[in-house]
Amino acid sequence: MPSPAKYIFVTGGVASSLGKGIISASLAKLLQARGYSVTIQKFDPYINVDPGTLNPYEHGECYVTEDGAETDLDLGHYERFLNIPTSQANNVTTGRIYKQVIEKERRGDYLGKTVQIIPHITDEIKRRMKLLGESGRYEFIITEIGGTVGDIESLPYIEAIRQLKLELGSQDCLVIHLTLIPFLNAAGELKTKPTQHSVKMFLEQGVQPDVLVCRTEHSLGKDLKRKVGLFCNVSEEAVIESMDARSIYDVPLLMEEEGLDVVVLKKLGMPHHNTPDLNSWKQFLHRLRHPKSTVTIGIVGKYIELKDAYKSIAESFIHAGAANECKVEIRWIHSEDITSDNISGIFEGLHGVLVAPGFGERGIEGKIEAIRFARLNKIPFLGICLGMQCAVIEFARNVLGFNNAHSTEMFSDTPYPVIHLQEGQKNVTHKGGTMRLGAYPCELKPESLALRVYGRPSISERHRHRYEFNNAYLEDFEKAGMIASGVNPENRLVEIVEIPGHPWFIGVQFHPEYKSTVDNPHPLFSAFIQASVKHQNSVPTGAQLA
Ligand code: GLN
Repeated sequence: MPSPAKYIFVTGGVASSLGKGIISASLAKLLQARGYSVTIQKFDPYINVDPGTLNPYEHGECYVTEDGAETDLDLGHYERFLNIPTSQANNVTTGRIYKQVIEKERRGDYLGKTVQIIPHITDEIKRRMKLLGESGRYEFIITEIGGTVGDIESLPYIEAIRQLKLELGSQDCLVIHLTLIPFLNAAGELKTKPTQHSVKMFLEQGVQPDVLVCRTEHSLGKDLKRKVGLFCNVSEEAVIESMDARSIYDVPLLMEEEGLDVVVLKKLGMPHHNTPDLNSWKQFLHRLRHPKSTVTIGIVGKYIELKDAYKSIAESFIHAGAANECKVEIRWIHSEDITSDNISGIFEGLHGVLVAPGFGERGIEGKIEAIRFARLNKIPFLGICLGMQCAVIEFARNVLGFNNAHSTEMFSDTPYPVIHLQEGQKNVTHKGGTMRLGAYPCELKPESLALRVYGRPSISERHRHRYEFNNAYLEDFEKAGMIASGVNPENRLVEIVEIPGHPWFIGVQFHPEYKSTVDNPHPLFSAFIQASVKHQNSVPTGAQLA
């Protein structure tokens, strides 16, 4: 019988967007670096069953796990920091909790009882909170609670934490509250009152936080830490300062300096005298800080006002850049802004072009134009999901001469449906959780660029889409110079296209960005950066582009 897991809850107060996900991932990293097995889960208080149906403008990117769960983008941070996969069980929403309880009620499982928030909803929350801990695979379960303490939606979660604290005891359950200590310019002072109020509200709901992590732009110093501790009923060493960091990847080291991991281990009665082995993490940071070259990559998408919409792609470039000792400057390009007249100006100085995933018609012609330009000017190109589909459409129209070729997603009556709905999708009416989701195998063609990039013939990548390359046109494409270099061995669906006559042109139907981590930069991003460096060195500055 494995010893019971320790449960750590991370809540937020005062303001949203303080970075609970990064604090959770950083603590997990420190515990992992001490040899513990850790996982992180996120409980989101909104009523959507999962974020799969949300517009990226709402909560940013939808992250996809190996087992095909559509999840909050924080799970991406968890995987990138810990280098271990998460699953369906790692992200739970209020919608999912209520769905389960209502299904049980319909089945008659509650035996005639009145079904209520306490105990039925809170029991289901607690059951889910303990699920991963009961698997016996982890010594620590870190649970991040979305939203801020004081929100109406958060109440059942706080109540579940209150009950669990009582049931598990202080040796097995701990609460970290992340708050903000604002600096008032006019007074020239850091202000602790909002934190005091937030903790007071938490106490009114029955929970005394054990550790406070205080986001601040200026160092708190001993006196303020003591003051916060005194007013919030927390020992001074458990008041941790979290100053703004240069990058999210610095946060584990800053938290180590502040002793967050030691305080947590002490309070949970665990050994804490060894030091975390962060060597490979520090090497990564060193390479990130000391680049030998710089490239500029254009990311063409339609949600670029909100950088979180492409979080995993941006992070993948950081990993791949560090692996190649290359600083990757991102130029965010709105696909709706691109026309054939202005593109050479917009693309001036780019060393590589990535066309992003997406849904629907808006901005689609700009993406196609971006690909035409990259193809003709031999600029390294990586198309992801919709980006790959646009590469197919562009090639059909401009190389094969298929006028008005399109994806049936945007133009159902196109004379050349080069991208079309998968067979299994034709009768699907519900939008939630019904795409082709999660990991699928792919076989790479001998002598292809894809095979050189991956260095092995069989790969597995994560998916999130409804539309596919239309295999009725495969022969036309291959004869004209765009080949399917990766296919699904079971159903022959095209997973990767490339143009052998181009220095580096790859479109992938899957999402490589979900699998890039600090310890394992993704080979496609890494090779794309290498190709971009090569392109930079081969093009004379100021050269005219077509
Ligand atoms: N909208 C396209 C599809 O559903 C592409 C999806 C994506 O880019 N993730 O197939």
